[in-house]
Amino acid sequence: MRIPVLMYHKVSPGKKEKYRISPEKFASQMEYLSKKRYQTISPDEILGFVKGGRALPKRPVLITFDDGYKDNFTHAYPILKRYNFKATIFLVTQYIGKKNGWSKGGEEILSWEEIEEMKREGFSFGSHTHTHPNLLELSRDKVLSEIRDSKRILEERLEEPISFFTYPYGKFNSRIKEMVKGAGYSGAFSTLPGKNSRNEDPFLLRRILIRGYDTKLHFILNLKLGRSRI
Ligand SMILES: [Zn+2]
Repeated sequence: MRIPVLMYHKVSPGKKEKYRISPEKFASQMEYLSKKRYQTISPDEILGFVKGGRALPKRPVLITFDDGYKDNFTHAYPILKRYNFKATIFLVTQYIGKKNGWSKGGEEILSWEEIEEMKREGFSFGSHTHTHPNLLELSRDKVLSEIRDSKRILEERLEEPISFFTYPYGKFNSRIKEMVKGAGYSGAFSTLPGKNSRNEDPFLLRRILIRGYDTKLHFILNLKLGRSRI
């Protein structure tokens, strides 16, 4: 068994972009998963599988969002609820309740209230650093504070352990991976394509990027083959 982890960013109307999918297209993908009897799982469940062969539902899928855009609440959340699906959102703590400061777009980011409502409905949250830097360009001390501060802020506010991490821009090396491990996380998701087998590195879990301009056929092939095709 190999487990697909889907990676989304923005779900909103507007210009077709790699990292923005329209709500209609997102809804049709969720409808497909539901019709094919996929069941959403949590990061803890996939970790249990790669580390110890934990039994999972028959057609497991983990749905993830990076960056924590407000549209994850306004557009994706109602669609996910319709199918009784749960997702995991990786947050950049400095920008919660504000506009994102790491790209020119100035996109709105989730508020704590929105995050808390989704948490009550069974969504999980992870860290995507404090300010969304390219970790490869930072000093050791700065990397450590990005990894630790975001974890602490989320744990204090959400009152639960934050055990998973995603690397901004998918940038990592073995030193950074070790620092994430050392900061007390249990696992991290990369942007390496493919599905997750048993004995996958828990700090380099694979994800399938779902791009805004992918067709339905792309989506189905990506899900089945575990890669993002051109
Ligand atoms: Zn990001």
